[in-house]
Amino acid sequence: MSRSQWRRLPVPAATAVAILLSLGVIGAQTVITPPANRYSAAEDVEIGRQASVQVAQQLPMLDDREVTSPVASIGRRLVDAIPPELQHPEFRYSVDVVNVREINAFALPGGPMYINRGMIQAARNEGEAASVMAHELSHVALRHGTAQATKATKYEIGQLAGAVLGAIIGGRVGGAVSQGTQFGLGTAFLRFSREYERQADLLGSHIMARAGYDPRDMASMFQTIEKAGGPGGPEWLSDHPNAGDRAATIRREAQSLHVQNPMDDRGAFAAVQARLRRMAPAPTTKEATRVVPAGGSPSTSPPPTGFGRVEPPSSDYTAYTEGDFFRVSVPSNWRELRAKNAVTFAPDGAYGNVNGQGAFTHGMEIGLVGSETPNVRTATDDLIGSLARSNPSLSRPSRYDMVSIAGRQGLHTILSNVSDATGQQERIEVFTTLVGDGGLFYALGVAPRDRFSSYQVTFRRVVGSIQLNVRDPSLR
Ligand SMILES: [Zn+2]
Repeated sequence: MSRSQWRRLPVPAATAVAILLSLGVIGAQTVITPPANRYSAAEDVEIGRQASVQVAQQLPMLDDREVTSPVASIGRRLVDAIPPELQHPEFRYSVDVVNVREINAFALPGGPMYINRGMIQAARNEGEAASVMAHELSHVALRHGTAQATKATKYEIGQLAGAVLGAIIGGRVGGAVSQGTQFGLGTAFLRFSREYERQADLLGSHIMARAGYDPRDMASMFQTIEKAGGPGGPEWLSDHPNAGDRAATIRREAQSLHVQNPMDDRGAFAAVQARLRRMAPAPTTKEATRVVPAGGSPSTSPPPTGFGRVEPPSSDYTAYTEGDFFRVSVPSNWRELRAKNAVTFAPDGAYGNVNGQGAFTHGMEIGLVGSETPNVRTATDDLIGSLARSNPSLSRPSRYDMVSIAGRQGLHTILSNVSDATGQQERIEVFTTLVGDGGLFYALGVAPRDRFSSYQVTFRRVVGSIQLNVRDPSLR
């Protein structure tokens, strides 16, 4: 389960600036001055680079050229239209499409930009989608993230980068970056003041006009976003608070802007939307970032082998160290399959794809999920509830036993399920313990019902080998 899907689409540096300058923008447009900033542009780039690595690990990027290529073209067109005085040669703009349902978009300092599939699908036309990107690009060009951090304590660059992720995924995912104080910092880092929002709207409208889009599409996009209901709702508006009547402000500004090189809509964006409609519906961010379900991995590319003959667990064990997270020993004939917040160990023939999702029939999945409760029983119930959403036949625990996991008190139970790979009955052995500040560490052993008792011995040996990493204070 490689992460080759985490592909970044480069947007080449501005090349059309000179041409656009000559086209110009007429009228008395609002002059926008970037706020005070004690960070360097190079520091913006470094913060964005570090944060983008985490984003790529946590959020599912759509890897479909028929979608990403036209979206990257829109991004390139807009980047080229950033006014020259706000072009930072260090910045490296890129656009990724996040395969989640919420109507949202965000950009990181120095240039990495992310637009949710839900936002692309909600837009009524290319101009509306472009307007959200133009707004996000404006936050980047005006360096609002580090300007906002400037007002606060002096943070280390790594702290700022780490804080971003917690803000994006709302502290649902385990790991230090989404926890505690950094969460508040991250929120502040991506959620801007009304004045910054006003600046991003106005500069965004200028960029729109310079790029050949009707800036009034930005005004109508706000209405489109506000009207959009359904699961997820207009997340973007809560991250980008309405600075007064922003639609009216943009329409007023648009009167002083002139679109001299109107873009020629040849239906590329409509084709993107049509393609997205043909795909399976996007998950919510919460679904996409939650624990990988038993027997299913929402995040991963197709595993190297399909289902077939499965060798029994080897009596030799191999130790794996999972980053700063944990150490574990598993039968030497099990492979390590990494997903987003979890790792699965399974033998050849026991893992493959079912309905586009990774699944396994024999082996163990070990991971960490954010927990909203300090009660291990409630947290484990929540975990099983989330597993049941993608495993409709999963039974509910009739009881929990107390166990020790890595020297901590934990819970244990055994569930039944119908394997989506084989259609046969399987058993899932669940081990959980609370870690750090709001995380639930879990291990799930999966085996067909008729092989389960022999696999239980292996599961217990694997769980008995787990060492949670003491170097990470959040896991202590
Ligand atoms: Zn904004």
